[in-house]
Amino acid sequence: MSAPATAREPILARRLESRLRAATSGEVWFDRTTRGMYATDASIYQIMPLGVVAPRDADELDAILTIAREEGVPVTARGGGTSQCGQTVNRGLIVDVSRSLHALVALDVANRRARVQPGIVLDVLNRALRPHGLFFPVDPSTASRCTIGGMTANNSSGARSIRYGLMADNVLGIDALLADGTRAWFGEIDGTPQGPARYAELIARLRAIAAREADEIAARIPKVLRNVGGYAIQSVASSGAFNAAKLLVGSEGTLALFREVELALQPLPAHKVLGVCHFPRFADAMRATQALVALDPVAVELVDRTMIELARGIPAFAATMAKYVRGEPDALLLVEFTGDEPAPLRERLTALEDTMADLGFGGGVVALVDPAQQAEMLDVRAQGLNIMTSMRGDAKPVSIIEDCAVPLEHLAEYTSALTAIFTKYGTTGTWYAHASVGCLHVRPVLNMKSEADVGKLRAIAEEAFALVRAYGGAHSGEHGDGIVRSEFHAEMFGPRIVAAFGEVKAAFDPGNLLNPGKIVDAPRMDDRANFRYGPGYAPLPLETVLDWSA
Ligand SMILES: Cc1cc2nc3c(=O)[nH]c(=O)nc-3n(C[C@H](O)[C@H](O)[C@H](O)COP(=O)(O)OP(=O)(O)OC[C@H]3O[C@@H](n4cnc5c(N)ncnc54)[C@H](O)[C@@H]3O)c2cc1C
Repeated sequence: MSAPATAREPILARRLESRLRAATSGEVWFDRTTRGMYATDASIYQIMPLGVVAPRDADELDAILTIAREEGVPVTARGGGTSQCGQTVNRGLIVDVSRSLHALVALDVANRRARVQPGIVLDVLNRALRPHGLFFPVDPSTASRCTIGGMTANNSSGARSIRYGLMADNVLGIDALLADGTRAWFGEIDGTPQGPARYAELIARLRAIAAREADEIAARIPKVLRNVGGYAIQSVASSGAFNAAKLLVGSEGTLALFREVELALQPLPAHKVLGVCHFPRFADAMRATQALVALDPVAVELVDRTMIELARGIPAFAATMAKYVRGEPDALLLVEFTGDEPAPLRERLTALEDTMADLGFGGGVVALVDPAQQAEMLDVRAQGLNIMTSMRGDAKPVSIIEDCAVPLEHLAEYTSALTAIFTKYGTTGTWYAHASVGCLHVRPVLNMKSEADVGKLRAIAEEAFALVRAYGGAHSGEHGDGIVRSEFHAEMFGPRIVAAFGEVKAAFDPGNLLNPGKIVDAPRMDDRANFRYGPGYAPLPLETVLDWSA
């Protein structure tokens, strides 16, 4: 649990609450239970906010920001709260945009564009697009609850990023509210930026930083597709055209609040086939990945032995595993192809079987052409984290290094070197997810209630990130920076780039009002004062009516 409130806080909280109630028609909570609910996300952290507000419409964001600015209280936006690195937890005011700001504002079917409010959930958006033969292709496995605002702010991506890219590749523009109340449209800029003077000044400042740091950016920003660490200063053109929205994508609520986001849509693929590729050893799967990616699939997703075994023990997945997993493989790669006609897709499956045979794994492909069967198998992968955390006992797979990305040619070496680090610290790793782009979800199994295991967090993170850097990879490849990753930016990107991130933050938000302590000036990732299981943690002694001992 976070540090106790300062003496000023009760008075401030009462004043803030009454001002918010007067200025907005939305919901306002300052009670301990609700604040406690918003004190956590899907990370290891827990920080008690001062209060929570859910604006009724986008204009209320402005009123909330004005009050927060006048009261000197930080503001952190929140969508589905599924961030794994502590992006949505903070002191100050939490602004929940998911409750009311979830409209599909405009749909341009002919030009395949949609404009949405930030709180719309991805699955809800895709259900609305389906009748038009369209979909939004960025596909985090939290699609049933993550919001477009959160996806944009985290620069999220999913299994099919090898085909469709990240949010940065699919966001066309952002209607944004800056900390000082300036509202501006961040989008394509060619020539003089259109909008308020403050926007033009910001763009000029960004261009100057990009020009000055061009060599450093070229030398220090990883070239892998999956790099979402820090601010995307590499996307800013020092002169000529660029899309200013790309700088806000991945900014984790630290530069602006999003009122609306404009998205590029894709036609729904008519047909899909899936090859479940079996490997006797984990290293074989890692070595094979490059050859499978060369077949131009839309996804190559890893499922490791731990996940296979856990899934076999879960009633919801046991039948799926029995149907599609043969023998005792150490790893599976799920290789997906899509297209408009079924016949060429069957040829792609044959090519996959041939490639597997060439690699020495002939007969190792279970081909799934029936959409229902594909959905069953892909659901196991999509539920990967839930399956992994079903591990019994206090030791769980912990998210600290879980989305590092390395160039594919180094994947096999990287995974065995990382395994050696886990062994050195007396633990093991769980592995799954995006083999196609060298971004594996790997979690060391640690007990966050144990002082000894907490002590290993930093050592494992430091050694893993050093490894990633040596391979030219990214330490933050999917889930964002939050508290877990931000303090390592200096080590990964070097002091000049980190100073440039600081300049970007100061240019946008000189008062440090928006989600402070993320991306720049972050606390130590292993400061237990911010942990859910802090130093004083003990379970409540509860007398249950039913007997749960079994
Ligand atoms: C089981 C599990 C699986 C996951 N799988 C994936 C995956 O496959 N791919 C992937 O990329 N991620 C994945 N994630 C991480 C997470 O789901 C994504 O980052 C997701 O896009 C976050 O969306 P959200 O709505 O929950 O955002 P939140 O967690 O609520 O917020 C994310 C960030 O967005 C900011 N924000 C929210 N709304 C606004 C706004 N209106 N204006 C400005 N800033 C805003 C917040 O301040 C915060 O910094 C997974 C997480 C879990 C728990």
